[in-house]
Amino acid sequence: MRELRYNPLTGQWIMVSAVRRERPWRPSGFCPFCPGGEETGYGWEVLLLPNRFPMLSFEAPKPEPIEFYRKARALGQCSVIVESPEHDLKDLDELSQGGMVKVVKLWREATAELRGNPHVAYLAIFRNKGEEIGVSLTHPHDQLYALPFIPLRVRLKLENSRNHYERHGECLFCRILNEELEGRRLVYENRGFALFMPFFASWPFEVHIYPKRHVMWLTQLDEREIEDLADAMRVATGVLNEVLGREMPYSMMVFQAPLRGNYPFYHLHVEFYPLLRDNGRIKYTAGIEMGTWEFTYDGVPEENAERLRRACRRVTKRLGAVGGCPRRP
Ligand code: ZN
Ligand code: ZN
Repeated sequence: MRELRYNPLTGQWIMVSAVRRERPWRPSGFCPFCPGGEETGYGWEVLLLPNRFPMLSFEAPKPEPIEFYRKARALGQCSVIVESPEHDLKDLDELSQGGMVKVVKLWREATAELRGNPHVAYLAIFRNKGEEIGVSLTHPHDQLYALPFIPLRVRLKLENSRNHYERHGECLFCRILNEELEGRRLVYENRGFALFMPFFASWPFEVHIYPKRHVMWLTQLDEREIEDLADAMRVATGVLNEVLGREMPYSMMVFQAPLRGNYPFYHLHVEFYPLLRDNGRIKYTAGIEMGTWEFTYDGVPEENAERLRRACRRVTKRLGAVGGCPRRP
């Protein structure tokens, strides 16, 4: 059984699938992402694999219509990018710059390929890191979900950035970027990208990466910008793993414009949601966050941004990063 079910109260689609019940939980002694496996073979640095337990499939059956509720085919694709042949790499900051560039290029290729597919409305690119967040396979990897609908959070961002564009004649993201480049929450910048904690951070160490040039899709990035994005991704994870002196569990999401249509008011960006508070404890999303989707921020964002900047100065050298961490009063 695999289908989409619509929640008429919130306007969200739920991906329902029974295939994932078979999914292995940290299988001992066997890693499907290591080189030499049935699917992986040898001789690669990064690898795109179909998810063996996909929520979505282009072969998904047409669900039986029912009277009141809406269902839809769970059309789409779920794949995995194995980011390195090395099983024990802990995070992207341990990848080489060349390896990270290859990962970003696979994201770009997947975007280009799926843009022509009439069943795909949105490509979600994301990464989970850490046991605390429920990572079932520790071999470094990220995931691609080619969705047949535009997710609610993306629809909200589209609506707000469209309104801002119509009212002020400027891209809302470009405006945010300008504010943050000048402000106290900037953590790192290189030629093409800025890494900052947004004014409106929800997570204690939340950081975003924006391209300085106004682009909607990864496919619009040139070779130098791909290099700079890879550099910023390595620094972002390096900073998160450094700031508390321990590995940071997090989720990361790459937000592009929807694959079909034109969105001149939208701007490519990456968001990291790190799970730990400044005392090293986990921030659980409980009553207020789960029930209302509204967040409390315990602390002062600018103080945590300063801690991130100090961590940044310690990691840029180790990573051979091309940009710098600003000094702010
Ligand atoms: Zn492995
Ligand atoms: Zn923009």
